[in-house]
Amino acid sequence: MTRNAAGEVTYRQMYIGGKWVDAETGETFESVDPFTGQVWAKAPLGGPADVRKAVQAATDALSGPWGTMSASARGNLIRRLGQLIAEHTDELATIESTDNGKVIRETRGQMAGLPATYEYFAGAADKIQGSTIPSPHTNFFTYTRREPIGVVAAILPWNSPLYLLASKLAPALAAGCTFVAKPAEQTPMSTLKFAELVAEAGFPDGVFNVVTGAGETGAALSADPGVAKVTFTGSTATGTAVMKAAADHITDVTLELGGKSPNIVFADTDIADAMNGVMAGIFAATGQTCIAGSRLLVAREIHDELIGRLAERIKTIKLGDPLDMATEVGPIAFSEQLDKVRSYVDIGVGEGATLVSGGRKPTEGDLRDGYFFEPTILTGVHNNMRVAREEIFGPVLSVIPFDSEEEAVRIANDTAYGLAAAVWTRDIQRAHRVAHQLNAGSIWINSYRVLAYNVPYGGFRQSGIGRENGLEGLDSYLQTKSIWVELTGASR
Ligand code: NAD
Repeated sequence: MTRNAAGEVTYRQMYIGGKWVDAETGETFESVDPFTGQVWAKAPLGGPADVRKAVQAATDALSGPWGTMSASARGNLIRRLGQLIAEHTDELATIESTDNGKVIRETRGQMAGLPATYEYFAGAADKIQGSTIPSPHTNFFTYTRREPIGVVAAILPWNSPLYLLASKLAPALAAGCTFVAKPAEQTPMSTLKFAELVAEAGFPDGVFNVVTGAGETGAALSADPGVAKVTFTGSTATGTAVMKAAADHITDVTLELGGKSPNIVFADTDIADAMNGVMAGIFAATGQTCIAGSRLLVAREIHDELIGRLAERIKTIKLGDPLDMATEVGPIAFSEQLDKVRSYVDIGVGEGATLVSGGRKPTEGDLRDGYFFEPTILTGVHNNMRVAREEIFGPVLSVIPFDSEEEAVRIANDTAYGLAAAVWTRDIQRAHRVAHQLNAGSIWINSYRVLAYNVPYGGFRQSGIGRENGLEGLDSYLQTKSIWVELTGASR
């Protein structure tokens, strides 16, 4: 599959209650290909009426065949969905790379990994079980059931649409929940294509629904009283709004939010390995990942060597067409985000940081029309500068030197966020000691940006609430019911 021909615009409908539908208002919105700067797709602009319809369809599906299906049969459907994804990885990857500019070598890898997520949770479906509890009241037999929480609303960002959807949908389906997905307005197309695969897999109508639209659509979803749980991935500011809206109906929330993650490089590290980890941590996906290692904390004695090597390596990075397998860094996903990234470089320099590499939008050749921004290094950053405290969500590395282990830990933890961190050292005692002190949900030792469907993932502090992936992720879609059975007739 390749990019649309010039001027050709793809339109896909929403998927609600097993039917393909336009928005009730008939309105649509456009998605721009960030490499060409041209509109390439359109989707329905779902409003409150569409949201209500989708939540109702999901509610009805809970008491339909899905509600009485055996857990093993649910698992089989989820497994089938994983197989269908495996048959469509190239197509799904191409759609995502066209929608958000992420390089195809990464989106292909992400899509190829999705079936394993569905397979893992498919296998977990019939292992969900309660317990029997020895009651202090000896005339009672007491046991628990683990029941689906109900209708789940998933509100998603633009940076990894189907990857992030999988971490929510696969466990929710395994738990027996029904689902309404609201992809980001910049990237609606892969989720709409994905809905075709859900339909083909044979899930009952209403189990999975997609409503496309912008922030208002997400707001209507998080405020809908029929939704039992909102699982949200996006910025901390929007997560706050989602949590407030959910509070009106005591709706459960999982929030996966922003970060300003420290990548801590000690002097005793293998500097070549650390350099690769620093590069991947901040420049992969053009820096548009929640776990980006956007603060490089480096031991002062190796500061100049590491920065020198990074600056040399940056010169060799191939920016280009995200659909080209040779491209290492694609464009920023949309023009407002490009403006935001650019403005942060100005802010950093204004605050006294030194621009060592990058810092501009390339205008040559086939990079001219796209929303490209050069991989950028700012040195001389102090942790109280805005470029060290605020999430830029772009290819901008803020470098902060440190003089001792204690200082490194203090700077690393001096942030409102707590999503991820890495420690680079050959000293095994220091590695664990520092990892234990860092306030973050995922810590890598001598690595960066490794995640898996069976390892819990989530944020400390303002990086979020709850965990996705693994059995902890599955738990978040279940609620416990305790049942008391009187055995003797004593209470009659
Ligand atoms: P965003 O918060 O702007 O938007 C996320 C989603 O929320 C979109 O679908 C949007 O339409 C919707 N939305 C906007 N306003 C809303 C409202 N008032 N109520 C309900 N929904 C609303 O985030 P983004 O710019 O799409 O994504 C980037 C952010 O996501 C970054 O902060 C990044 O760190 C974070 N992120 C976190 C993780 C994680 O796992 N922790 C993963 C990826 C991205």
